[in-house]
Amino acid sequence: MTSVNGLILIPIGEISPEDLFEAKRLINQAFRGKLEIHVSTARINPPMHLIDWDRLQYRADHVTQWVSSITPTIRRAGYLVVGVCGCDAYVEGLNFVFGLAMPALGAATVYTRRLVARSKEQYIERIAKEVVHETGHLLGLQHCSDKSCVMSFSNSILDVDRKSYMFCDKCWRKVEDRLNVDDEG
Ligand SMILES: [Zn+2]
Ligand SMILES: [Zn+2]
Repeated sequence: MTSVNGLILIPIGEISPEDLFEAKRLINQAFRGKLEIHVSTARINPPMHLIDWDRLQYRADHVTQWVSSITPTIRRAGYLVVGVCGCDAYVEGLNFVFGLAMPALGAATVYTRRLVARSKEQYIERIAKEVVHETGHLLGLQHCSDKSCVMSFSNSILDVDRKSYMFCDKCWRKVEDRLNVDDEG
C-alpha cells in the first residue's frame, strides 16, 4: 500500500469552488486535521459524451474514470481525487447515485444535483458528508451499520440528512490506520 498524502477536490460543471471551500471546513473536521485537503480553483466541464442522453444523466462510473484519467500526476504523488459535479448521475442498476468511489483508480465523484437544499448551510453539509463518505471508500472502508456514521449507506436524501459528516469510532480507527501507512510498509 502506498501512503496517502492528501485529498484534492475538483469542482466539475455547475458548482462553485467557493461552495467546496466551505465544505472543506467540515471535511477537515471529519478527518481531524490529519488529511491535507486542497480545492482546485480551476473548474472543469465534463465531456458531453459521458452523458446518457436517454436518461439525461451522467454515467457515474464513466465520469469517475475520466476524473482519474485527467489526474495521473497528482494521484501518483499520493493524492486522492474527488470530483464534485453539479449534475445528476447513475450507475447500471440504480436510478441515481450521490457519489461513486473507484478505489483502484484512486478517484471518486460526488453529484450535487440531488443534494440541493433550502439553505446553503444544509447544501454545504450534504456535500461534505458525501465527499467524506466517498473518500472513506477510497481509503478502503466499507459501509457501516451505525446510521449516524458518515460511512452508512444513503439510499435517499433523508438518509444523508440523518447521518453526520463524522466517522464513528470504529471507522475512524480504520481511517487512522490507513493514513499511517508509509511508502516503506
Ligand atoms: Zn458508499
Ligand atoms: Zn462507522
